[in-house]
Amino acid sequence: MKTEILKIKSPQEKEKIQKAARILQKGGLVAIPTETVYGLAANALDKSALAKIFKAKGRPVDNPLIVHVCKVEQLYNLVTDLSEEACLLAEAFWPGPLTLVLEKSPTLPKEVSAGLETLAVRMPDHPIALAILEEANIPLAAPSANLSGSPSPTCAAHVADDLVGRIDAIVDSGACSVGLESTVLSLVGPKACILRPGGVTRQAIEDVIGSVELDPGVFRPLEGNQAPLSPGLKYKHYAPKASLILVEGSLEGFIELLSSVEDKKGIGALCFDGEEKMLPLEICVSYGPRDDSEIQAKRLFSALRALDELPGLKTIYARSPKGSGMGLAVYNRLLRSAAFDLIKTK
Ligand code: AMP
Ligand code: MG
Repeated sequence: MKTEILKIKSPQEKEKIQKAARILQKGGLVAIPTETVYGLAANALDKSALAKIFKAKGRPVDNPLIVHVCKVEQLYNLVTDLSEEACLLAEAFWPGPLTLVLEKSPTLPKEVSAGLETLAVRMPDHPIALAILEEANIPLAAPSANLSGSPSPTCAAHVADDLVGRIDAIVDSGACSVGLESTVLSLVGPKACILRPGGVTRQAIEDVIGSVELDPGVFRPLEGNQAPLSPGLKYKHYAPKASLILVEGSLEGFIELLSSVEDKKGIGALCFDGEEKMLPLEICVSYGPRDDSEIQAKRLFSALRALDELPGLKTIYARSPKGSGMGLAVYNRLLRSAAFDLIKTK
């Protein structure tokens, strides 16, 4: 399949917006920019279009999709009950990186939620995504536009690396401003619960609806045959090709640990800006200043992909970010890239 690249800088570029929308209306796949990461969009109401998403990404069929809308009114056909909490949150954070899990309308194809009775929905805060949603006039299912398991794409070149030849078009609108996926908040249980930390912090949510829970899957792998609340959580995710070990502790502890590695061939470091010169390794890629979680979020996936470009790399030791605020989302992605392999140093 030939993948068309549509460079779109502004929502005024009507012809290209219409082109992307027509492909989607006809059941095709278009990678679109959002503020979080690039999404692989398809008509959320069209079973066969949804099946194409799973095939192009190699996504396990039991991992549900997030549906994107451009107007709150679209939710009336997608979910059965819009609680006061949901309305307050939509008002506070949409358009923006907060996904709400609500009771799914039975008329929607079951493929979109991988058979669950619930549906994840959000309104993206990106002018081109919103223009395409409006023009297509359909809700769009859009998981991250990468091959399943690999780091999420934060620019069109990342999408092309993974999906060229497998999808109809890629809309190229430059780099994503947040750089990490949305926060997934479930509103279907007895208490609101964060299933995946992301672009909206726990504190910001609590400021609107009061205390919320944090799913234990954010910090640790599922035990035995425990059923995950968010099926995506059970898969290896965001992972570079080399194995990654997350190292929690001071810079001194990190240096000591690296110094103790006898054979440094094929060993690399993922560190903070300015630390490269202090580390006893030749391969060092940084992902932002130590104290700036927002920049780390923006650069993490690019840094992981940059490490993937280096031949012969076998193991990456990664500096752990502070785990609060936006840093919790960065920490969660690194922990999952490491398949929960964590070392603590002084
Ligand atoms: P992605 O769009 O690739 O970032 O993945 C979407 C994430 O949202 C995955 O972790 C899914 O498990 C989660 N998700 C989507 N729909 C639901 C749902 N109905 N209930 C719980 N989690 C969901
Ligand atoms: Mg994903």
